[in-house]
Amino acid sequence: LALHKVIMVGSGGVGKSALTLQFMYDEFVEDYEPTKADSYRKKVVLDGEEVQIDILDTAGQEDYAAIRDNYFRSGEGFLLVFSITEHESFTATAEFRCELLPVALLPYSSFLEPDYSLTKWEQILRVKAEEDKIPLLVVGNKSDLEERRQVPVEEARSKAEEWGVQYVETSAKTRANVDKVFFDLMREIRAK
Ligand code: GDP
Ligand code: MG
Repeated sequence: LALHKVIMVGSGGVGKSALTLQFMYDEFVEDYEPTKADSYRKKVVLDGEEVQIDILDTAGQEDYAAIRDNYFRSGEGFLLVFSITEHESFTATAEFRCELLPVALLPYSSFLEPDYSLTKWEQILRVKAEEDKIPLLVVGNKSDLEERRQVPVEEARSKAEEWGVQYVETSAKTRANVDKVFFDLMREIRAK
């Protein structure tokens, strides 16, 4: 049974827990403990094949170095979440991406064994090539709050395009696109 490990990343309050719980239990949990990180496992049918998904819902309380060493590395795919009602949370996605990319690369790249014959520039090119393979979706959550939108769809879409990833808007409240982001991410992990 294939197991796909997914990590929820993003600023506090954007709906990482609400998306996770909506996907897991089909309910909108409005007041999940903001400081609580937890992991979940569910059996799902992905394109006719039974697989397991492991979701790690982070809460931003963890020491950053510890996150990198312990569980960003264990993730195979990432949902990089912001809230369309908070521009600051969108800006933060770029920082999160920078933090997690090199870490996510480690298991797949030869960077664990530094190759000192490579020049710095060659190393950068190598990282760039590997970067493209990291399963990651940018998720604009709270799409039900259109009247409070601070992040234009076009702004988010062009950033995602620059990164070569998909941009999807979700609502943990109405369940819009919730299955889509988890299933599309699993497909990217599977295709890797
Ligand atoms: P986290 O810190 O990223 O885990 O965010 P939470 O899942 O705890 O959500 C923070 C707040 O936003 C809570 O009050 C949620 O009820 C609310 N929330 C989360 N997702 C949505 C959504 O899609 N729509 C609306 N209207 N509220 C949401
Ligand atoms: Mg949370």
